[in-house]
Amino acid sequence: MTQTDLYDVIILGSGPAGLTAAIYTARAKLKTLVISGFTPGGQLTTTTKVENFPGFPEGIYGPELMNRTMDQAKNFGASFVFENVSSLSGTAKENFTVTTDSNNTYTGRTLIIATGVSPRWLGLPNEQKLRGRGVCVCATCDAAFFKDQTVAVIGGGDTAMEEATFLTKFASKVYLVVREDKSELRASKYMQDLAFANDKIIPMFNIEVQEILGEKSVEGIKIHNLKTDDTETLDISGMFVAIGSMPNTTFLMDFIELDERGHVKITNNTQTSKPGVFVAGDVSDPRYRQAITAAGFGAMAAIDAESYLANASQTE
Ligand code: NAP
Repeated sequence: MTQTDLYDVIILGSGPAGLTAAIYTARAKLKTLVISGFTPGGQLTTTTKVENFPGFPEGIYGPELMNRTMDQAKNFGASFVFENVSSLSGTAKENFTVTTDSNNTYTGRTLIIATGVSPRWLGLPNEQKLRGRGVCVCATCDAAFFKDQTVAVIGGGDTAMEEATFLTKFASKVYLVVREDKSELRASKYMQDLAFANDKIIPMFNIEVQEILGEKSVEGIKIHNLKTDDTETLDISGMFVAIGSMPNTTFLMDFIELDERGHVKITNNTQTSKPGVFVAGDVSDPRYRQAITAAGFGAMAAIDAESYLANASQTE
């Protein structure tokens, strides 16, 4: 099916960056389409309470924050389609064409790429085979399946601390398996303190996972101590991988420039290597990666797209 409407701005992605961009462009009376991706609301919809987003002194649950932000964009007139982008073509001169997995095409005068990141995997042989059968990446989604059971969380960042803390609501014991030393932990002090104060969490440092055990579901993990060279088996029924993320940019490879780790390269402000294509959020930000910084980045991209269109109509 081909959509013939010409949008001023097509926003790819519906996390805090994409939705904030949509609020700004729609409020500026630009005809705005958001192509939400397979996880409308983005990564925050798989998180629990967000305590550091300004304006919510008691915190706000990630899904609620995203639903409210989406409603705000809709109230200003942004349109949404719940599809996944498969390819992009065109230039600002001849307009851009966005094709989705549902075989729909959409045409826009400018694009804002806000496709975020996806979870990184350990790459162990059994990992994908046992996905959904004990191997998980989202405690909010799957913790309830592990009531009174023993699980492990892999990783030493804020996500790992958050996942482990959330899992203690259901699981009886949570191993927190970290490859760094305690002194080198990447997680913020606040999140570490929260996790380590919980007596259901058993932190294990200098440990790598060597093997995931089980045929039909996870039965344990073989771990290796990087300091002592010892190996042992932990009997667990769930393993939550929380080892960071990778930018969702595979479909952009032939369209705009990416850096060596796959993040979208910025040439000036939020402008990418292609005129008329702007970027916002974690897809271009390996450093800050916060909901609030992504939202701010979205506002910046929207302002840049707006002035780009204003200049383009003056020179037409
Ligand atoms: P991250 O900060 O990149 O941490 C990834 C962790 O996984 C590190 O401990 C890393 O160890 C480890 N790791 C990477 N590859 C590994 C492997 N193959 N095997 C074992 N461990 C591996 O990722 P994140 O925790 O997802 O956080 C991403 C961003 O979101 C951060 O900016 C964070 O502050 C933010 N965040 C904030 C909140 C909050 O404020 N509520 C909650 C969640 C996330 P090395 O250090 O050794 O590489």
